[in-house]
Amino acid sequence: MATINIRRDITDPFYRYKMERLQSKIEGKGNGIKSVIVNLSSVAQSLSRSPQYVVKFFGFELGAQVTANPSDDRYIINGAHEASKLQDYLDTFIVKFVLCEECKNPETDLKITKDGHIIRDCKACGQRTNVDLRHKLSGYILKNPPGKESSDSKKGSKKSKIKSKKSEDKTEKDAENGSGGNSDEDKNGATPDAENDGDASDDELTRRIQQEAKELPKASQDGAKDDGWAIDMSQDAIDRRAQALADSLSRVVVAGGDDEEEEEEAGDNPYEKLGAWIEEEKKSKGSVDDIEIYKKCVDLGIEKKHKTLQVLAQTIFDEGIVKQIPIRAALLKKLIISERHQRAFLGGTERFIGKDHPELIKAVPTVLMTYYNEDLITEDVVTKWGSKASRKYVDTATSKKVRKAAEPFLTWLAEAESEDEEEE
Ligand SMILES: [Zn+2]
Repeated sequence: MATINIRRDITDPFYRYKMERLQSKIEGKGNGIKSVIVNLSSVAQSLSRSPQYVVKFFGFELGAQVTANPSDDRYIINGAHEASKLQDYLDTFIVKFVLCEECKNPETDLKITKDGHIIRDCKACGQRTNVDLRHKLSGYILKNPPGKESSDSKKGSKKSKIKSKKSEDKTEKDAENGSGGNSDEDKNGATPDAENDGDASDDELTRRIQQEAKELPKASQDGAKDDGWAIDMSQDAIDRRAQALADSLSRVVVAGGDDEEEEEEAGDNPYEKLGAWIEEEKKSKGSVDDIEIYKKCVDLGIEKKHKTLQVLAQTIFDEGIVKQIPIRAALLKKLIISERHQRAFLGGTERFIGKDHPELIKAVPTVLMTYYNEDLITEDVVTKWGSKASRKYVDTATSKKVRKAAEPFLTWLAEAESEDEEEE
C-alpha cells in the first residue's frame, strides 16, 4: 500500500518515517451516514498512538460522534468525511500529539506525569515536551492513559531501531517501485492489517520489520515474472548493447592505470565474451540463470576478477533494475569480494544508467539504496564513489550527472549513519 511521510511538509522521499494514507469509506444514508476509517489501526501504529486517540481527535475537531471498536478494528465517525480532509486533521494531530516539539521527530512516547501533564518523550533528542492540556483530547487521554505501548521495548529498542532502519529503507524502495509506473500494486486498496492481534509487546518497529519480511519475497518474485527480461530483443538492440559494452570495456583497459591487470589481448577479452554470452542467452532463452552465469565466469577464469562485476552491472539488468537487484543479489554477493569489486560494480552501473539507460537517471538513488540494502556496496565505498566524478567508466559529464542524481541517497546515508552512531 502506498505510504506517505508522517510529516507531509517534508517531501524528501527518503524521509524515514512513513505511514499509510488514511482510507475512509462512506456507509449508510441520510441521518445514518457515517465514515469508516478503514486503515486507522495501521496508521495509528505508525504513529505509535492508540487508534482511539486518533478517532477521538477527529470527533473533537469535527464535532462529530465517533465509535471506536478496537475488538473488530472498526473506527467510525458519524457524517460523511472525505479521507483527504481527515488526512489534514491528522496532520494537526501529529503536530499536537506526536512530534517532539523540540526536534520535530515523530518517534515519541506519550506519557502522563505525576503532576497530571501529558508529555511527548522524544527518543531522538531526549527532550520531553508538554502536550496542550486545553485540547479536549488531552482530557480524554488523562482519563484513558496510554496503555502498555512500548512496555518492554527499552531493552531491545536500540537493536530493533537499527534493524528498522534497514527495513524502512526497503519500504521506501517499495514505495518507489509503486510510483515507478509499471506496477499495479497500489490497486489493492483497503486491506485491514490482519496482523494486529493486540500483542502489546509487538512495538511498531517489530511490526514493520515483520510486515517487510512478509512482503519482500513476493515483490522479488513479481519482479522476476513481470519484468524479468522485458527488454528490446531485436538484433539491432542487441548489437547496440554489445557495442556499448565493448566500448566501455576498452575504456577501462585504456584508463586502467590504478587498478590491476590489463593483460587482455585485443579480440580475446574474456569480459567481452562474458557480456556477449549473456546477451546471447537473453536472446535465445529469455533469461540467464545465476548458476549459469557463475559457471561461465569460472570457465572464462574471471569469477574472482573485479571487472566481471562491471560487465554484470551492464548486462544482467534492464529498466526493471530496482526489482531485479534483490533477485540477483545472491550471485552478486558471491562475486563481490573486495572494495575494488564494489567500485567496478558501481562503475558498470554508472555506465549502464548514464549511457545505456539515461531514462533511469532518476532511479539512481533507489538503485544505490537497493544495492546498499542488499549488502552489495558499503557506506565507505559508495560515499567515496559519490565524492568525485571519474572518467574511468563514462565521460566526465555523464559521471557528474550520475553523481548529482545520487545525492539524495548519499545525503540520506550520511545522516542515517550519524544517527546510528549517536544511538551506539
Ligand atoms: Zn526531539
